[in-house]
Amino acid sequence: MQEVLGCFQERLAYSQEPMEDLTGEKRMNDLTQLLAYSDKPAEKKKCGGCGKIKFTRDFNIHKKHKDFLQSWCRDCGREEAYKYKNSEIGQMLEVINGVFRRAFNEKRKGRKKWFPEISRRDIWQIILNHICRMKEKFPGSDGRLCFYCHQPWTHLRRKTDGSHKKGVYILTNFSLDRFDCRFTYKDGNVICCCFGCNHRKGNSTPEDWRMFIEAENDLE
Ligand SMILES: [Zn+2]
Ligand SMILES: [Zn+2]
Repeated sequence: MQEVLGCFQERLAYSQEPMEDLTGEKRMNDLTQLLAYSDKPAEKKKCGGCGKIKFTRDFNIHKKHKDFLQSWCRDCGREEAYKYKNSEIGQMLEVINGVFRRAFNEKRKGRKKWFPEISRRDIWQIILNHICRMKEKFPGSDGRLCFYCHQPWTHLRRKTDGSHKKGVYILTNFSLDRFDCRFTYKDGNVICCCFGCNHRKGNSTPEDWRMFIEAENDLE
């Protein structure tokens, strides 16, 4: 019996150890907020999106709000995020963010990282300039065309239930290309194109292209 008790006490001591590590200031803050939230589990709240009156458990937590809840219900929030990611601006910002995310991602070991030498605002300006230039080149179009193949961009994303890996269902074809792949994202080296062209171009350099064209001349 004592053996069992001793074992139990040991386990208790062990289980208390990680708890002490976790009680940082931030962690405590989260816990007190969660406790305040759990005091009124059956309360209802009106959603600012769909206008329906729902249980508080249907809302996500928002730390800066008075009642610690978001003003939109979870379904409305998910729907809105989906709409935003399918919109042109949401999609483009996602691509721009991807450039910076890949550069500063610690987990991507072994792959060369391209640290951009321009800011997000600069890239945004490059896209706007590109649209203006394409509008002049192709009157009648909205200027949202690939620099290489002149096909319009699409901003599509299939709905997922969250069980799939991120990025699997992206059907967009807007992409940012480094014109000369030996250099990073900088002024004059960023091209707005479609995903297909970016993929086909891959890691080939202007040197390679000259080589291919010269080879074609030799064929004839
Ligand atoms: Zn709602
Ligand atoms: Zn293209």
